[in-house]
Amino acid sequence: MLGAIIGDIAGSRFEFNNIHTKDFEFFHPDCQITDDSAMTIALMAAILEGDMQNEMSFKKTVIDCYKRFWTLYPQGGYGLGFSEWLESDNPQPYHSYGNGACMRISPAAVLDEGVRERVAKWATEVSHNHPISLAWVNLFVTAVSMVKDIPADDGKQYLRNMLQYTLSDEHSAEFYVNGIAKVHPGVFDETVQGTVPIAIKAVLEAEDFEDTVRTAISYGGDSDTIAAIAGAIAESVFGIPQSIKRACLRYIPVTMVSTVAKFHRRYPNFS
Ligand SMILES: [Mg+2]
Repeated sequence: MLGAIIGDIAGSRFEFNNIHTKDFEFFHPDCQITDDSAMTIALMAAILEGDMQNEMSFKKTVIDCYKRFWTLYPQGGYGLGFSEWLESDNPQPYHSYGNGACMRISPAAVLDEGVRERVAKWATEVSHNHPISLAWVNLFVTAVSMVKDIPADDGKQYLRNMLQYTLSDEHSAEFYVNGIAKVHPGVFDETVQGTVPIAIKAVLEAEDFEDTVRTAISYGGDSDTIAAIAGAIAESVFGIPQSIKRACLRYIPVTMVSTVAKFHRRYPNFS
């Protein structure tokens, strides 16, 4: 899923230096990948290497891959809680509902129904085992896969319905009250429920992939992660122009690019 990586790269220089316009150089020399891309690629590796039928075994592979790609790219700006998790010899889930749950999960969306939800759940539970994270991860990977092969307008309608659903009080129990969607662009909110809805809003307001990423970044807040999540959804809704795919590759470290290439060879229908 290059969509998440491209959003992360384009948003990287604005995370702590927000911009409130869509008019900026998309791939600037100061752009770089951050933790969002490193962990997305780590999940690609886990899907390529792991046994997706076996929970214990797959979770071990996921943990190994998150750690391995963190070692390859330790400068990614990892959150405090997740940094401690990565540094631990025996990392345990810590009930996080940070947006890290969704920023890394898009590779699971390429899998077949059933496997997809299971793998997304396992890849999340190893660290972000809060029910809010699990609920949003499930909605997110389902949405990314559902809007893939339908016209963009239909995809947007699906997303609009999903957003309405998550904003509705009657479903608050499912999201454990605090997991209800929040749409407050411009506020620095690192929760998953405060990030995914804003990413969806960007897709709904945009005309194509690049416009989605620009719109997501223009909201401010946690720019690289909002753009990564929006980019993953926009990839399915609109597709990514070849020129943007090619341009993003030069930002992916050589130690990681073969994993990305292998993943896209294995799952050619995505991206
Ligand atoms: Mg980041």
